[in-house]
Amino acid sequence: MSDLTSFALPHVAKLHAYTPGLQPGESGWVKLNTNENPYPPSPRVAEALRREIGAEGASLRLYPNPTSAPLRAALAHHHGLWPENVFVGNGSDDVLNLLVRCFCTQEAAAGFLLPSYSLYPVLVEIQDGRSNPVEFDRTMRLPLEKIAASEAKAFFLTSPNAPTAVGFANDEIEKILSAFRGILIVDEAYAAFASESAVTLLSRHPRLVVVRTFSKSHALAGIRVGYALAHADLIGLLDRVKDSYNVSRLSQVAALAALDDAGYYDAIIEKIKDTRDFYAHEFTAKRGWFTYPSQANFIFTEPCDAGRKTGPAVAKSLYDFLFARKILVRHFPSHALTASFLRVSVGTDDEMLVLSEALDAWQKQKPTPA
Ligand code: PMP
Repeated sequence: MSDLTSFALPHVAKLHAYTPGLQPGESGWVKLNTNENPYPPSPRVAEALRREIGAEGASLRLYPNPTSAPLRAALAHHHGLWPENVFVGNGSDDVLNLLVRCFCTQEAAAGFLLPSYSLYPVLVEIQDGRSNPVEFDRTMRLPLEKIAASEAKAFFLTSPNAPTAVGFANDEIEKILSAFRGILIVDEAYAAFASESAVTLLSRHPRLVVVRTFSKSHALAGIRVGYALAHADLIGLLDRVKDSYNVSRLSQVAALAALDDAGYYDAIIEKIKDTRDFYAHEFTAKRGWFTYPSQANFIFTEPCDAGRKTGPAVAKSLYDFLFARKILVRHFPSHALTASFLRVSVGTDDEMLVLSEALDAWQKQKPTPA
């Protein structure tokens, strides 16, 4: 530890930052590694941004609306709720971070499932809090009893889950709500691609928080807008701990314009779901690869090599093979239930064809050495 690091709080000095997926600087990659939307945002977004910037960018002198009030109102309308049930953040990562800030310390543990979104434990460590993880087994069915028995103050449930893409039904979420006594945070980053959303449970369950994002369904990962839907008292807590101007002027404008073009988004979401179902079937039926049923905009699949072998080395060998051909997917070697799988974000038809041809070529190769 350097002298300067030793000035930091001990828990900060030993922190390991979250590792995001690669964002290559140069073009020419088939980028299927961070679950971005392969299609552009609605044309109304760029129009609204141009209007906001104007010829000289004069409005940028001014701070944004501090609470994103117009966007809260539009989101409330969109979800059939009241503006006091909506909080807007700088991406849903910001919202998750603020939830950890509100609820998690050494005394009040944060619960989450393993494997799920690997940011949660990092956020808990930043807060010097305590994590109380609950393990899935290979079925990836919700371990309801273990969650119910969790002594966590707040529990993060990713639905559909990442990286497995498995979605959880509202009746299971309600079972958790009746057995678990803390705050249940359902991270719905991918819910636009799923058959159900927990938003409809909010009116009956005051301890439920649903977190959503414009990054995936609305093709706005670069603009950083996410939000929480919850009882007004919980939203009030987030308002106490947020930065004063936590969502930029341009981000608010972009998200509002996107919400105004439901027809465009319905069409690209349907297209992504069709492509997903086509390739999930291809992986299972044509290649014989075990693949979890996907409710998200990505597919989690366990590749078999030419010798019908699976395992962490096989998955890594396919990852490397694709990387050498400038195709980026994601490998999660650090958990036994994910290490033999790859996660493939759903791309355009052209991107998926390039991937599929590369998979054919890999499957014809000599089996992976033991
Ligand atoms: N939740 C989950 C489950 C995710 O996979 C992601 C994206 N990495 C996020 C939240 C964060 O999304 P964003 O901050 O872009 O809204």
